[in-house]
Amino acid sequence: MIRATVWNEFVEEKIYPSVSSVYPDGIHVVLAQALGDELAQEVQVRTAVMQDDEHGLTDDVLAATDVLLWWSHLENDAVSDEIVARVQRRVHQGMGLLILHSAILSKVAKTLLGTSNDATGWRHGDKEHLWTILPTHPIAAGVPNPVVIPQQEMYGEPIDIPTPDELVFISNFEGGEVLRSGCAYLRGQGRIFFFAPGHEEYPVYFQPEIRRILGNAVRWAAAGLPAPARPTRTGEYPASGG
Ligand code: ZN
Repeated sequence: MIRATVWNEFVEEKIYPSVSSVYPDGIHVVLAQALGDELAQEVQVRTAVMQDDEHGLTDDVLAATDVLLWWSHLENDAVSDEIVARVQRRVHQGMGLLILHSAILSKVAKTLLGTSNDATGWRHGDKEHLWTILPTHPIAAGVPNPVVIPQQEMYGEPIDIPTPDELVFISNFEGGEVLRSGCAYLRGQGRIFFFAPGHEEYPVYFQPEIRRILGNAVRWAAAGLPAPARPTRTGEYPASGG
């Protein structure tokens, strides 16, 4: 059983009709439903939002999370540094992390990847072709090539992310831009997947091929290694040893 936690800042759904008309109950609810549909008995999903105590990400919640999905945009910079550090520690210990769309600019993503993650330009409303370039990767299993997303927000290259450990998808847009849109990373014992599709004004997370990718990614990210047991430094060395 994979224990997934879907985290959403949950702000734009409450203030912009263009967002609430697509995700009236919040993007997190739709993502949770997608995982339930895709992974059925394999997954147990909970949701958390920024307005919850400790952003809903207490030590207990994170300890009971195998994969954390992170969607954020407007409030990327408002997330508490303490919670960011907590998420980073858990990823290093083996928790999986899916960084979704504009969450690539979240503190969590910047901290774990170590880069600014700035893209070169953005534009709303483009048709996107998502191409599989690593068809043997588990995240690409059963995914048609290409996946056509009728409307999406374009982010363009160069994007200041680290070279992925595995580059699973690239995308091209109507304006001719390209993007590394499905990037897998290992950080400590944890597996991280950046997946670029998912702008809040378009029903991207309702699309069956996108749901397949999300389900595959959760399954892949859940397979991070458990943290090895290590003696603490004070247990290993005499305190006065210098
Ligand atoms: Zn967007």
